[in-house]
Amino acid sequence: MRSRIISLMGLLLITCAPGYGARPNPQQALDAVKTGNLRYLSGKTLHFEVSKEKREISASDGQQPVAIVLGCSDSRVPVEMVFDQGLAEVFVVRVAGNICGTAELASIEYGVKYLQIPLIVVLGHSDCGAVKAAVDSAAGGAALPGLLPALVNKIAPAVAVAKRSHPEKRGNELVHAAALANVWLVANEMFSNSTIVKNAVFANRLKIVAAIRDLKSGKVTFLGEYPQPATLVVPGKNR
Ligand SMILES: [Zn+2]
Repeated sequence: MRSRIISLMGLLLITCAPGYGARPNPQQALDAVKTGNLRYLSGKTLHFEVSKEKREISASDGQQPVAIVLGCSDSRVPVEMVFDQGLAEVFVVRVAGNICGTAELASIEYGVKYLQIPLIVVLGHSDCGAVKAAVDSAAGGAALPGLLPALVNKIAPAVAVAKRSHPEKRGNELVHAAALANVWLVANEMFSNSTIVKNAVFANRLKIVAAIRDLKSGKVTFLGEYPQPATLVVPGKNR
């Protein structure tokens, strides 16, 4: 298993060697995905077709994605379309409920460490089935089959936070509150559990932002940065 992982990373290093162009800073990267979502909302996207030239350049010169997006597997949240980004422009990690387990975080670490990607977007969405399942499970609903409980259990802390913060909410309102809590908890998890991510944030080379997409309107609402810059305790500086 270990040798397979090492050979996979080697392959990625060869095929993803840094190549062309100056990299955006974290704020420029955030502006790029925000304006991409506005283009998507306007119906006038730039990336409906992929040019032969772009495909060949990205194949030969490697990838320089503007952002890592951790999003849900839900087919209604196609990340490249939502942010109107083209081939080789976003490094996408998708898993139901946009949770951040070991494999997801390792993928993110690869993007931060080896591709110097300056932005992570934790993208939740409205009407998320995985979050709904976690809410139902917390309410004592029917047992889930197969491996699904392992996934839903990762969202349980967000449901607990939503219930504590909004004891009056029920049904879809509670699901939405849990989806919001989930993107923040996931952002906290990736920051807390990864030295690579944490060091890049401390060095101002990386921003983590939480965001939520409304399925009906398509709009992505950016909720803010994690951790808030004012609360950052930079090792050796703020103490
Ligand atoms: Zn979902």
